[in-house]
Parts: sequence; structure tokens; C-alpha cells
Amino acid sequence: MDEYLEKLRSGALKLYALEQALPAADAVAVRRAYIEAETGTALPTLGAFAISPERVTRRNCENMIGAVQVPVGVAGPLRVRGEHADGSYWLPLATTEGALVASVNRGCSAITRAGGAEVRIFADRMTRAPVFAARSVAHSAEIVRWVEAHFAELREAAGATTRHGRLVGATCSVAGTSVFVRLEFTTGDAMGMNMVTIASEAVAAVVERETGARLVSSSGNLCTDKKPAAVNVVSGRGRTVAAGVLLPDDLIRDVLKTDAASLVEVNTRKNLVGSARAGALGFNAHAANVIAALFIACGQDPAHVVEGSLAVTTIDPAPGGAYVAVTLPALPLGTVGGGTAIETQAECLGILGVAGGGDPPGEHAKALAEIVAAGVLAGEISLLSAQAAGHLARAHVTLGRG
Ligand code: NAP
Repeated sequence: MDEYLEKLRSGALKLYALEQALPAADAVAVRRAYIEAETGTALPTLGAFAISPERVTRRNCENMIGAVQVPVGVAGPLRVRGEHADGSYWLPLATTEGALVASVNRGCSAITRAGGAEVRIFADRMTRAPVFAARSVAHSAEIVRWVEAHFAELREAAGATTRHGRLVGATCSVAGTSVFVRLEFTTGDAMGMNMVTIASEAVAAVVERETGARLVSSSGNLCTDKKPAAVNVVSGRGRTVAAGVLLPDDLIRDVLKTDAASLVEVNTRKNLVGSARAGALGFNAHAANVIAALFIACGQDPAHVVEGSLAVTTIDPAPGGAYVAVTLPALPLGTVGGGTAIETQAECLGILGVAGGGDPPGEHAKALAEIVAAGVLAGEISLLSAQAAGHLARAHVTLGRG
């Protein structure tokens, strides 16, 4: 240990190069000791973790010094009636927000007692949009026409880079001499960002070669990855999925302590009118809360909560109750790749029965998308009910304050 610490101090060894000199677990320990000394901060808890650093240091995290532990609670059972997830599920939620798990749990109870959430996937398309420089607007038009006429060629170039990714669409947008080609892929069980970025680079090379366009960036921000954007609301990104449930009047009264008319009014004035007045892109109460907690537990890229937060919640008055639905236009997620194979995260995916690749490929990711949508529905039902019943402040004071 001392020998390596001295080399780090003298600059003979770079902090990022420790794994080249030592087994991963030792490299992490030395790096942590170095940071402890540099900052005068003891890090015994950061260093006490159960995940194995061999894979993580190679695939998930550079300069690793330890792991932050986020508490995981369960909500459920949640009855989901999807085309890929059909059964009762316990949702693993990683969160530090007191009252969140309890709230989602109540929503799960309401949905399950109502017979379950019906869930459907409407689209499956991960996107990357390279940006090309043209010489003039006339050249921009030539590039667009070429792309539109040669989709099969582009699909072949993409297909050569991946077994599970498939190019299914290419939509061009122009701003003067900038040409954006928004490429859409199905990605099997992967969330797909690495997969489609590699495939998009192969596609872009063909476009450059055949049109004289100059590739400026393989991501031209029209993708749009990890930024709030209307294009994702309108055209979708990742899985587009909706979940809904008919809540009968007696259940709304007994479990949710409110009534259908109050639920409809809160949703209209808050989620629809309020969000419109705010210029929001997401028309929901707290979809991001449930998505963040599920994503952190299940090894998803937490930055994709941005896309997930674009959900819209609707409540239709129905005879004898209310039909509550959430629609998530852009839900990037997967059960292979990224952080999904880290031991604790894989265990959480295991709770949902969707760890690893599905049979056929894509089945697990679609099931996860349906479960997440049903979980978001549970969160919306519970929070809107609490607000309709005037209970929100009380729940937070009781459960969330130290
Ligand atoms: P990945 O691990 O890079 O790729 C998935 C891999 O799994 C591919 O090699 C694929 O092989 C293989 N695979 C095996 N079984 C599969 C199955 N059933 N379905 C699909 N693929 C299967 O993961 P990714 O989802 O593409 O990328 C996720 C990572 O990208 C995350 O860490 C995320 O944080 C990061 N990310 C990257 C960017 C970027 O611009 N590069 C942006 C945002 C996030 P084949 O390809 O041969 O099918």
C-alpha cells in the first residue's frame, strides 16, 4: 500500500492507472487511501461494499474509490397486466425520500385491488441523430434526398455492427447548412445507447462517403439524449408505453380516501393546466420519483430520468369511478448492458424476473418497461389522491422529517 501511495504522490503512477498495476480490489483500496490522505477524510463506509470491483472498474466506473449505498425498499405486490409482464410484482425502489415507498405502496394496493394495471408498449426505438455540415442549403437538400432514397443501404451498414440492434427509421431535419439525421433503432434487451452510437457512426460514414456531407458529431442533440426536449415527447425515444386502470368509486373512497370528481379536478388543474401554464414538457405529478428509484435499483442510467419525466397523466371520469392512465413517450431502459450486471442491481432485476437477456431477445426489456409504467401509475394515483384528500403535508411531516 505505502509503496503505491508514494508513487501516486510523486507522480510516478497516475491515479487512473492503478488497475494496470494491481488487482481491481487492491487498486480501489489504494486509491481510496490516497484520497483519504489528500482530503483528510476517513472513508470507512464508502469502502465497505458488496459489489465486486473487477467488472465495475472495467465497464462502469473509472477511478473507483468505493460505493455509495442507497436504501432499497419494496412496494407491492403490484398486479400488472401487460403483454410482456403479466403477474404480481414487488417493486425495488432505491430512494432516500421518506414517504416515497409508502406512497407507491398505497398506489400498488389500489391498482391491485382494482384488478391490475393494463399496460401496452406503443413503440420501441432508441435514437441517435448525427449532425452533418453541408456546403449550402441546396447541398443540405441533396443530402436529405439521398438519405430518404437509400434507407436499406443505411440499415445494412448499421446491421453490420450489432446482432440485436436494427435500424427502423431515419428522419432528417435541416437548419441552414446543418443536416440532422435522427436514426431510430430497436435494441433487443439493451437500453442501447452504446449500441446505437456505434451503429450510427457506421451509418454516418456511408452518408459522408455518398453525399459529401461532413460529419460534425455523431450526436447532434436532436437524439435527444438526457436533455428535456419536445422531440422526445412527440416522436418518442426508447420504449413508448402507457398504463391505465379503472378505479371504482368504493375503492377510491376506502383505499385512497377521496372521490373520483376530486381526483379528476386535481389532475386537470395541476397536471394539465398547471403544467401548461408552467411551459412544462412533462404533465405529471412525480413520474421522475418512481423512475429514479426503480432506475437506481435496477442498474439503469439515472440520467434517463430526464426522458422518463416527460410522462403525461390523464384521468377520465367513468361510470362508477375514474380511469387513470400514465403515458411515457420516452422510456430508455434495458436488462443487459450498462449497470444491469452489477450484483446488487442484477438482484433487483431478479426480483422483477427480468435479469439479463430475454427469450426471445427484447422480452425482458419490454417487461421491465411495462412494470416501470405500472409503477409510475401507482405513484401518480397515490400522490394525486393524497392531494385530493389534503393529506400530502401530513404524510411528509409524519414520515419524512428527521
Ligand atoms: P452495451 O453493454 O454497450 O451493449 C449491449 C451489449 O449486449 C451489446 O454488445 C449486445 O450485442 C449485447 N447483447 C447480448 N444480449 C443481448 C440482448 N438480448 N439484447 C440486446 N443486446 C444484447 O449497452 P447499451 O445498452 O448499448 O449502452 C448502455 C450504456 O451506454 C450505459 O452504460 C449508458 O450509461 C451508456 N450511455 C452511452 C452513451 C453513448 O453515447 N455511447 C450515451 C448515454 C448512455 P450486439 O450489439 O452484438 O447485439
